Amino acid sequence: MKIYNTMSREKEDFEPASEKRIKLFVCGPTVYDDAHIGHARTYISFDIIKRYLEFKGFFVFYLQNITDIDDKIIIRAAESNIDPEELARKYEKLYREDMEFLGVNGVNIYARARDHIPEIISQIQTLIEKGFAYETETGVYFEEDKFPDYGKLSRRNLEDLTVHRVNIDLTKKNPADFALWKKRTEKPLWDSPWGTGRPGWHIEDTAITEEYFGPQYDIHGGGLDLIFPHHEAEIAQMESASGKSPMVKYWMHTGFLNVSGEKMSKSLGNFITIRKLLENHDPQVFRFFVLSTHYRSPIDFSVDALEQSEKSLNRIQRLLIKVNESLEEYNNSENDKPTSESEDIYLSKIDSARDEFINAMDNDFNTPLVLSGIFNFIREFNKDLKNNNLSKNTLQRTKDLFDDVGSILGFNFSDTSKNDSDDISQNLIDILLEVRQKLREDKNYELSDEIRNKLAQYNITVED
Ligand code: AMP
Repeated sequence: MKIYNTMSREKEDFEPASEKRIKLFVCGPTVYDDAHIGHARTYISFDIIKRYLEFKGFFVFYLQNITDIDDKIIIRAAESNIDPEELARKYEKLYREDMEFLGVNGVNIYARARDHIPEIISQIQTLIEKGFAYETETGVYFEEDKFPDYGKLSRRNLEDLTVHRVNIDLTKKNPADFALWKKRTEKPLWDSPWGTGRPGWHIEDTAITEEYFGPQYDIHGGGLDLIFPHHEAEIAQMESASGKSPMVKYWMHTGFLNVSGEKMSKSLGNFITIRKLLENHDPQVFRFFVLSTHYRSPIDFSVDALEQSEKSLNRIQRLLIKVNESLEEYNNSENDKPTSESEDIYLSKIDSARDEFINAMDNDFNTPLVLSGIFNFIREFNKDLKNNNLSKNTLQRTKDLFDDVGSILGFNFSDTSKNDSDDISQNLIDILLEVRQKLREDKNYELSDEIRNKLAQYNITVED
């Protein structure tokens, strides 16, 4: 299995520290507002990654932090005249509900920064003791010059980092040094050896990962925007505090969900919340939309693209309906037909579809390739299913294939409850087309043309 590692910018063989157990950490949201579908893109991607690793036989411990101490939360709480903790709790709850709606349910522990203040303080103390951090009258800072590897993930060098800085805190040794502890007297604040205040953003995550995973673990994920400065700072903190390198073996980053080429974000105001989207769209359709692009590539959101995904998903569901119906017919009649020799070719296609699926996923979770394989298979299969000459065994194996692929990708392809009306329309069209075909065979062109013209009134084009 190969995974693209942002650290090396290459696909690498996946060799976790333990043969069976994987420690996966993904940066969670800053909870000050509703989560949007850009967040959903990242978390659905890691949901699928976890599901696939489990399918490969690993036990995956998936840890996610909740950033519930942050300037954005404090500002928003002040604007709304409520306590920052109350605001954070409210949006954390909504975020977790959104994830449930989206079928993202693989996170084993959500760890809040607020619940890990002692671990944060202890990690800062270690950094001070080892000479990587210093205290000033405004806070405690990590001294970047002391960590020569700073910039190894983002491939920036220290000189690049010190220019273009505004609002420089003159108490710091170097403008690029970042805060581990911010001395404050207004809430939210906690006691510390350096007086009251609150932690910096980056140390929240390394204190949490050290608590659950220790200083080294297998996979760290997040969106592309977090590579710098957040993940770079995490490496500096943890590798300096522990003296062990690398902190993380595989760095995985998702591409942005964009709108008209621009990253969807709260600050740009071009966002659609997950809740809003789900008012009109099936979560399975959105998942399908996410999957149709590789997780590292940008994905442009539009309603048209979503509708396209809906059509594609419906094609898979329709196949499953046909398969299930044919299976039911066999079950009711209790007649079976032996698997004929001519069917061997289909059975081997099922095997190769399964192999192609695994090969594509083994190759850095190439979900678009998975989908194109599925549609190739459907095209082939539809031809034969129309002739209605498949045995129960072949049908069952087709169903098993789609059930397996579906559960790894997070779909129940047989669940068409949300698409009933679409399916009824499609089935009626299929019936009309069959009748028309019979009319044409009987050379009753007058009536067959009438059907075609009537369908055209509903923008359905019939091509012979
Ligand atoms: P935030 O709440 O902004 O810290 O974001 C939480 C996670 O969602 C991070 O991993 C971000 O990189 C990711 N994220 C935010 N916006 C987008 C977007 N438009 N597309 C993909 N991922 C995003």
